[in-house]
Amino acid sequence: MAQDAREIFVVGLRNAHAMEIQAREMMERQSERLGDYPEVKARVTQHLRETEGQIKRLDECLAACGETSSSLKDAAQSFMGNMAAMAHTVMPDEILKNTFANNAFEHFEIAAYKSLLSLADLTGMSSAKPLLEASLKEEQSMAAWIDQNIDSVTRSYVRVAQAA
Ligand code: MG
Ligand code: FE
Repeated sequence: MAQDAREIFVVGLRNAHAMEIQAREMMERQSERLGDYPEVKARVTQHLRETEGQIKRLDECLAACGETSSSLKDAAQSFMGNMAAMAHTVMPDEILKNTFANNAFEHFEIAAYKSLLSLADLTGMSSAKPLLEASLKEEQSMAAWIDQNIDSVTRSYVRVAQAA
């Protein structure tokens, strides 16, 4: 039953891969309904492109661990299901709920990449570190943007609701 650090790292990479697939689905669904919030739509679209790159980086990290790409297919998990369901809810204040859910999701991703960096260190997988660091920086930047825009998004929502 004992797992070595390398196995734990590979499981962590697969979980992060599933997390990014979930992130991509969430943002694809949200971006279709952000017409009233062009600045949010632009930032979500940018992060969607970044997320595609993050998925490729995780593929590279798995390949560096000798894992084949076919083993990625078992990565579909719903551990973020509740948060995703919250993000999909179509309600008048959907923009606010999505903002809160996205804030939580980005912080989940930040913790996941920090943990993977520790595991890359423990397993001597130094080639994975710059890839994981690049993705971590993108998550931190997105989390900071969401935090800085909670006020403006809330004010925009009130204007949209009043005009409806
Ligand atoms: Mg991500
Ligand atoms: Fe993210």
